[in-house]
Amino acid sequence: MNRRDFLRTSGILSGHLILTSGLSVSAWIENAHGAEISVEGLRKSLDPKSAYVLLAQDRGFSQYQPAFNTRTLRTPLVRVLCLNAEAVVTCLAWAQTNNVPLAMRAGGHSYEGFSQSTGLVIDTRLMRSIDVSSDASEISIGAGVLLGDVYSALGPRGRTIPAGTCPTVGATGHTSGGGYGLLARAYGLACDSLEEIEIVTADGKEIRASENENSDLFWGFRGAGNGNFGVVTKLKYQTHPVDKVLAFSMDWSTHQSSATQLLQAWQQWMPTAPNEITSLFKISKDFFNYNIRCIGQSIGDEQTLRRELAQLTRVASPAHFNVQALSYLDSVRHFGGSDTSAPAVYMKAKSDYVMSVMDSPTLQSFTANMPTKNISVILDGYGGAIRNLKDTDTAFAHRENSVCSIQYYTQWSKSEDTPDRLKMMRDYYNSLRPHFTGAAYVNYPDVDLLNYARSYWGNNLERLVQLKGKWDPNNFFRHAQSIQLQLK
Ligand SMILES: Cc1cc2nc3c(=O)[nH]c(=O)nc-3n(C[C@H](O)[C@H](O)[C@H](O)COP(=O)(O)OP(=O)(O)OC[C@H]3O[C@@H](n4cnc5c(N)ncnc54)[C@H](O)[C@@H]3O)c2cc1C
Repeated sequence: MNRRDFLRTSGILSGHLILTSGLSVSAWIENAHGAEISVEGLRKSLDPKSAYVLLAQDRGFSQYQPAFNTRTLRTPLVRVLCLNAEAVVTCLAWAQTNNVPLAMRAGGHSYEGFSQSTGLVIDTRLMRSIDVSSDASEISIGAGVLLGDVYSALGPRGRTIPAGTCPTVGATGHTSGGGYGLLARAYGLACDSLEEIEIVTADGKEIRASENENSDLFWGFRGAGNGNFGVVTKLKYQTHPVDKVLAFSMDWSTHQSSATQLLQAWQQWMPTAPNEITSLFKISKDFFNYNIRCIGQSIGDEQTLRRELAQLTRVASPAHFNVQALSYLDSVRHFGGSDTSAPAVYMKAKSDYVMSVMDSPTLQSFTANMPTKNISVILDGYGGAIRNLKDTDTAFAHRENSVCSIQYYTQWSKSEDTPDRLKMMRDYYNSLRPHFTGAAYVNYPDVDLLNYARSYWGNNLERLVQLKGKWDPNNFFRHAQSIQLQLK
């Protein structure tokens, strides 16, 4: 089902403003049964100290409207900025009573707009509490905390959690889908460091989930938590030591056969490299050249790193090669920039998993079919600590055999370019289908996937469907690619 069909079948029909007597304006929305519902009831039942209700005509509405991907932007009838779990409970009860569709929003970086709704948005971005334990071995955060906030809180204490490079990504959405970053081979995915969540479930209860309490839900959240089982309000992580790191980068501008050889060398090397090293391999094409950039980070020693990187530099000499020792926070800024807000763009991405090293025909298709300009392909190296857990240990299903994930990415600035960009992406992806299994990363969601649930969750899908039936039996938390109550 595509997003348009989803919106139609989920009853998001229309919304309008009705002028009432005097100066007051109240918003009405039409629910799935065509009934008109006033948002005033919701506003009245919320404690104004724990929630800000924003309708389109309110000052501040537009301030909270942007999201990373302009292509998927939706204007909600009502956005409620919840400051605590009680406000979330009230919003859920109102939405359920009135049959109003909703979405949950944390950092707003969903590639396919799953944190957007034309009904109600339960917006957790102002839940920004951060508590670091006295020995800094644990951190508890509100659901609206961004990755950059976590790094800033822990970095000066010589600690961190392993998570993505972009500081403006929300910890909640990121962790619930896995969460890959430049410490992944050393310390695993972000969800692997999660110890506990607080979550409001479909029955309006605020509960905790961890290995010891509601452990089934905790299992499902780590890899399939985004928008499926309830509204997370808090997360607690164990932290890991980090001091100086070695940041490295190498660039080549080269022809197809050399690009293919470099890719071959990287995919052979990365999964077997020492766990202290994590690396990404990015490739794009202009008219005559393949532009390749390999970046990464090591928490080991420089001699080992340089010896390891020689496995790439001896294939082709890079135009630029740099290894530098940085403090952990400088490394975060080096790779992620120091912007506190991500500029909105039009974008589209797709993903694959490489389950055993790509053979020669695959590598050939990969480079030969690559469109000229406007698309980047980024391979995230797996192995290392990601493999410390089995595919079935958490809902994140791509650990044991994954060499790397592949992200196909394009972004643009004018809406009129959208059809061409989507077509270019689709054509390239389709040309590679014979070579990949269809497995995909849920944090790089793609509404074109035919069997998205199997692609994201592999053999964990059956268990997730059971969990959905237990924790959300009426399928209240749903978006275009949420877990269904039955296997399709
Ligand atoms: C610029 C950029 C860089 C990125 N870099 C990386 C990277 O290095 N590594 C990586 O693995 N991924 C990366 N991603 C992908 C990122 O991990 C996902 O987009 C992630 O889902 C974003 O989470 P969010 O909270 O910002 O997004 P949101 O859009 O707010 O939410 C994402 C999903 O989580 C759900 N959700 C939001 N809040 C809640 C809540 N309170 N309770 C329950 N569910 C909720 C939403 O419904 C939605 O389905 C990147 C994305 C972007 C745009």
